[in-house]
Amino acid sequence: MFDKILIANRGEIALRVVRACREMGIQSVAVHSTADSDAMHVRMADEAVCIGPPSSADSYLSFPAIISACEITGAQAIHPGYGFLSENANFVQVVEDHGLTFIGPTAEHIRMMGDKITAKDTMKALGVPCVPGSDGGVPTLKDAQRIGKEIGYPVIIKATAGGGGRGMKVAQTAADMEQAFLSARQEGKAAFGKDEVYIEKYLTTPRHIEIQVFGDGKGNAIHLGERDCSLQRRHQKVLEEAPGPCITPELRARIGKVCADAVAKINYIGAGTIEFLFENDEFYFIEMNTRLQVEHPVTEAIFGIDLVREQIRVAAGLPMSITQDELEINGHSIEVRINAESLPNFTPSPGTITQFHAPGGLGVRMDAAIYDGYRIPPYYDSLIGKLIVHGRDRPEALARLARSLGELIVDGVDTTVPLFHALLAEKAVQTGDYNIHWLEHWLEKNLN
Ligand code: ADP
Repeated sequence: MFDKILIANRGEIALRVVRACREMGIQSVAVHSTADSDAMHVRMADEAVCIGPPSSADSYLSFPAIISACEITGAQAIHPGYGFLSENANFVQVVEDHGLTFIGPTAEHIRMMGDKITAKDTMKALGVPCVPGSDGGVPTLKDAQRIGKEIGYPVIIKATAGGGGRGMKVAQTAADMEQAFLSARQEGKAAFGKDEVYIEKYLTTPRHIEIQVFGDGKGNAIHLGERDCSLQRRHQKVLEEAPGPCITPELRARIGKVCADAVAKINYIGAGTIEFLFENDEFYFIEMNTRLQVEHPVTEAIFGIDLVREQIRVAAGLPMSITQDELEINGHSIEVRINAESLPNFTPSPGTITQFHAPGGLGVRMDAAIYDGYRIPPYYDSLIGKLIVHGRDRPEALARLARSLGELIVDGVDTTVPLFHALLAEKAVQTGDYNIHWLEHWLEKNLN
């Protein structure tokens, strides 16, 4: 096992990893930019190294700064969290070239899944059901028009290198194709440096269901059921839950086995998430994330396991501490993402937190990286915390969420908390009866 792990991240996820390390008796090293000197992850880790100026490119994304921090502190492994370098295959290569361990999948797996066309081809070959669409990249508008006609409108044009909800355009009819095709290419080029796009049938009422998988890199893998992340704004998740309200044990067992078998076959190591759209009881693969997800705690809650601990174990060459047969779902869990943002437009609201009180009590987990007097820097993501609740069933989890949101105090900046109070009063949220477009419509009607 490692003696010391460096965490190449910030905010709540850096703290999350510090906590796992401490419970495992492993020393933790925080890295931070000059804008984060007072950040919670810096205060909580055993050691901290300043790795550069506020700009992420020169700090949290800087290979030399992070590798040097490992050398200075003697850290043997790097946990990347999510975002930043977590899905950067070149970084993984550099880490390994320096004799260090990357806590995550191999560079090869990251590359395979980072390119959406290769990912889809790989999954198709492994027996995972995919959204009908183009066979690979679509080079010209003419091809796009032909494919649109073949699969039938509406279609979605996606940048191969896209991510974070960017580089995707919907063409409702043939008349929209030119505009959608050109702007998806342009956005792909501008945001990801690659203008290749592909086309999929646009599903009109799907839910977003993702399967948590975990491999040991030696051909063994398990699945930890699904998360339903259908409440989205601009393709970004807002509230996540497990188990999915509309997934039966039979559906779970079927898709879970397909996913676990697929990652076992490629000798995948560590945590991964296979994302699907789910419509009329059918699953359609959209992408695989080769890292820990923001919403991993809802899975931890219902299975009572620590996914970061498992990541560290397999990275150190140990077997997973759980087997498929031992996994049993216990109750229901819901997470809400608390962002420092002003409604109704979700504009970032950095500033100083004058008062923070975290909710508590049975079944409540607050993963936040803020404190009284903490100044949220304007340079990074606006996620300041996640509130995760666990109950015996969905109604109990919802009641607990309402109760704990009522206890939460974050003063000094605007947050997305009022949105959750309003959502909890909605019948669709109470019954779980919504698809990925529901929240956008609701926001249009209620917030503007
Ligand atoms: P990203 O990598 O940018 O997150 P994804 O491929 O995972 O992109 O898609 C993100 C979201 O976009 C999905 O959760 C869903 O809301 C929507 N989406 C993607 N593909 C389709 C599709 N074929 N039909 C309908 N919606 C889609």
